Amino acid sequence: MIQHDVTIVGGGCVGLSTAKHLSEQTDLDIAILEKEHHLAAHQSGRNSGVLHPGFNYPPGSDKARFATDGTKRMKEYCGTHDIPCDELGVLVVAKNDREESHLQTLASQADANGVEYELLNSQKAIQAHEPHAVGQAAFYAPQAASVDSQQYVYALAREVQSAGVSLYTGHEVEAIESLSAGYLLTTSNSTIETSLLVNAAGLHADTLAQQVGVGDGYQVVPFRGEYYEVAPERTEVCRTMIYPTPDPELPFLGVHYTRRTDGKVIVGPNAVLAFGREAYHNTDVDLRELGETLSYGGFRRLLASKTMLSVAWSELNKSYRKQKFTEAAQRLVPSIREDDLQKSYAGIRAQLVTDDGKLVKDPLTIETDDAVHVLNAVSPGLTSSLPFGEHIATLISEKAVRA
Ligand SMILES: Cc1cc2nc3c(=O)[nH]c(=O)nc-3n(C[C@H](O)[C@H](O)[C@H](O)COP(=O)(O)OP(=O)(O)OC[C@H]3O[C@@H](n4cnc5c(N)ncnc54)[C@H](O)[C@@H]3O)c2cc1C
Repeated sequence: MIQHDVTIVGGGCVGLSTAKHLSEQTDLDIAILEKEHHLAAHQSGRNSGVLHPGFNYPPGSDKARFATDGTKRMKEYCGTHDIPCDELGVLVVAKNDREESHLQTLASQADANGVEYELLNSQKAIQAHEPHAVGQAAFYAPQAASVDSQQYVYALAREVQSAGVSLYTGHEVEAIESLSAGYLLTTSNSTIETSLLVNAAGLHADTLAQQVGVGDGYQVVPFRGEYYEVAPERTEVCRTMIYPTPDPELPFLGVHYTRRTDGKVIVGPNAVLAFGREAYHNTDVDLRELGETLSYGGFRRLLASKTMLSVAWSELNKSYRKQKFTEAAQRLVPSIREDDLQKSYAGIRAQLVTDDGKLVKDPLTIETDDAVHVLNAVSPGLTSSLPFGEHIATLISEKAVRA
C-alpha cells in the first residue's frame, strides 16, 4: 500500500498548479494521480490557449480576480520556463447596436479590474488592428496573450517532480472510500492511502466527489468545442485574436479566431452537447454517459429554456454542417471561405449544471474537513490556473495544520 499526505486526482493545469503551490507552502508528501499516460490530454491541452486579462468578468468575482492575476503570473511563468507566449492583444468586435452597448460593460469591467483597453468606434479603427475583421465598433485589449497550453502543463509537471511530488501517470482512480481518517483510493494500478484529498479530475470530478457524498445537486455536462484551422495561405485573415461580443447569459465566448504561438490560426470553438465526457468527435457516443446526461433533470430543465434550446440547435448545426460553422466565422471575417477551413482538434468543457437547470458560471470548489473537490474549473481556467491552484493549496495547507 502506498501512502501520501496529500493526493491530487487529476494532472491538468489545476491539479498541477495546486501541487506546485502546495510544495512551495509545505513539506507535505504530495502525489498526483493522472489516468492518462500523457499529460494535457483533456481540457488543459485542448483549448484556445488564450490568456484572458479579466475584462469579461464582473468586478469582485473570483473569475475577475483569478483571470487578472493569472494573466500576469502566467506571462512571467512562461518567460522563466521558456514556454511560448505571445502578447498579441485581442479585438472584441460588435456587429450591431446591442453588441456595441455591451462593449461599454466590458470597458467598465476593464476599468474596475485594472485591465488596459481601447474602444474603437469605426471600421477604419478596427482595420488598423485587424485588416480583415468587420464590425461597427470594437474593444481592444492589448494584454491578452496566446500561450502553448500543452508546454505549460509539461513545465508544471517537470517543476513539481523536481520539488519531490510523485506524479503517477496511467493511474485512473476507480473508487474512493472514506476512512476514519483520510481516504483509500483504488486506482487501475495501485491502492493509495491519503490523509488529504484534492479532486481536480475535470470532466469526472462530479462522479468522484459523489462517491464520498459530495456534490449532490450538480452534474458535469460535457460540451464539445470544435476547431477549424485556417489554411496556411490564408492565415493573414487574423494577425492576433478576434472575438465576437460575448453573450452575458452564456459561459462560452463564441466562435473566435486565435493566432497560436506556432503561427497557425484556429477558428472555434462551438459549444455542442458531447455524447460522452470524452467524445471528441461528433460521431463518438458513450451510451452510458449520454444516458446520464439525458436523464439528468438539471439538463432537461436547462433545455426547457427557449433561449438555451435555440442556442443548442444552432451549435448542433455548426457541428454537423461546416457551412453553418463558416457562417459564424464569416460574421467576424467575411472574406473567409468554407474551403479555407480545415477540420482541427476539439476540446470538451466540463460544464457544471445545477439540479434546477442553471449553468454554473463561476469556479466552484466544495470543501470537507480533509478534502477539496474542484467541481467547476470553468473557463478561463487555464488563465486562472496559477492563482486558483494557489488558493486550493492554501485550503489544503490549513487542513493539514488542523489535522
Ligand atoms: C474548448 C475549450 C477552450 C478553452 N479555451 C480556454 C482559453 O482560451 N483560455 C482559458 O483560460 N481557458 C480555456 N478553457 C478552459 C480551460 O482549458 C479549463 O478551465 C482548464 O484546462 C481546466 O483544467 P483542469 O485541470 O481542471 O481539467 P483537465 O485539464 O481536464 O484535467 C483533469 C485531469 O484529470 C484526469 N482525470 C479525470 N478523471 C480521473 C480519474 N478518475 N483518475 C485519475 N485522473 C483523472 C484527466 O485525465 C485530466 O488530465 C477552454 C476549455 C475548453 C474545453
